Amino acid sequence: MPKIKSLRSHLLRLLSLIYTHGRISRSQLADYAGYSTFLVSKLAERLLKEGLVVEVGAGVSSGGRPPTLLAINPDIGRLVGIHMGTINLRAVITNLSGDVLAHRIDKSQVDKGPEVALQHMLSLIQELLRQARVKPEKLSGIGIGIAGVLDREKGITLSWPKVPSWTDVPVKSIVERSFKTLVEVDDTPRTMALAEKRFGKAQNAKEFIYLALGAGTGAALFLNGQLYTGTGGFAGEFGHTTIDERGPLCSCGNRGCLEVMVSASTLIHRAEEALATGLSSQLYRIARENGGQLNLDSIARAAEANDRFSLGLLSETSLHVATGVTSLINLLNPELIILGGGLIQGIGRWLLPSIQRLVQERAMPNPANQVSIELSELSEIDWARGSTLLVSEKVLQRTLPVRRKV
Ligand SMILES: [Zn+2]
Repeated sequence: MPKIKSLRSHLLRLLSLIYTHGRISRSQLADYAGYSTFLVSKLAERLLKEGLVVEVGAGVSSGGRPPTLLAINPDIGRLVGIHMGTINLRAVITNLSGDVLAHRIDKSQVDKGPEVALQHMLSLIQELLRQARVKPEKLSGIGIGIAGVLDREKGITLSWPKVPSWTDVPVKSIVERSFKTLVEVDDTPRTMALAEKRFGKAQNAKEFIYLALGAGTGAALFLNGQLYTGTGGFAGEFGHTTIDERGPLCSCGNRGCLEVMVSASTLIHRAEEALATGLSSQLYRIARENGGQLNLDSIARAAEANDRFSLGLLSETSLHVATGVTSLINLLNPELIILGGGLIQGIGRWLLPSIQRLVQERAMPNPANQVSIELSELSEIDWARGSTLLVSEKVLQRTLPVRRKV
């Protein structure tokens, strides 16, 4: 057997591979790690003895007895995942396999300021722990996705253009003070992209871009299988790419950004204007049925009823998104672009065919032929599950004993 220090790194390598693949045979592990099957068997034996992995039934045989598969023991830890958007807050408790033990969706209250909103989030975590019967000291880590601009190392929101009171808020240390556990913070496009990579359509993609379209707009870039964060960690602020130099003023101070052109609030605001000026009879009918309220679903329903204003609004939105997506394709030659977020959940099925057509017309032909543009099928709860992935690997590493002999 290898020496203790290298033994630990070999064990970690195997744990990480087992975690990433979900279920995996010893011979696959040997292939991926580049270890001998003998070494993998010894290491696996050790991980089984420590209770860190479990055997989970048989895989597919390539002749002979089907191999027994290994998986992470889901009960070695409990994780909290938070997705804090401008409007809503989604929270989950999961085991190490990502199975949801309890979840909640509530208003994020970020407009009431950081103190109120963070206190609300902390009480919600306490509530979830009670609901899932997890003692706070048994919690292994908390991952938080926040829609602001972040110092991800320190876990501070540097700014949040839509809610200016969130300048320099030390979210990570505030949460660490309440729960003595591992806490990590990142922006929501990235935590949503992590969810897509682990649970969604991007599981096998190496060159992949996630575009989050909701109250705000942002992107996460996976280049060669790794999240690309840029020099200072700010890569992905794609929502503030200019689509129209003379367009409306954006919360960032620029004009005509993708975010201000296509955000859910912009669309609803424009629909409300159309309603007030009598531009759309279908929207008027749908709003009346809905107690005077308009939302993304109202626009989709009006479009379904062939309402000219709503169809025009959707085709304009498709054009703006397609213009942005075309730049991404020409610049990065990705294999997969996934569109997700509240806007996509509301009207994505209306936007996708025109976005795909416009991109084919406008992007350079070679990269355009190599990319697949798809809608995310994950739920809001999955976004919060994605935040647990900020801490899960570190939690795994901490479960491995450091000094014991083999
Ligand atoms: Zn902007």
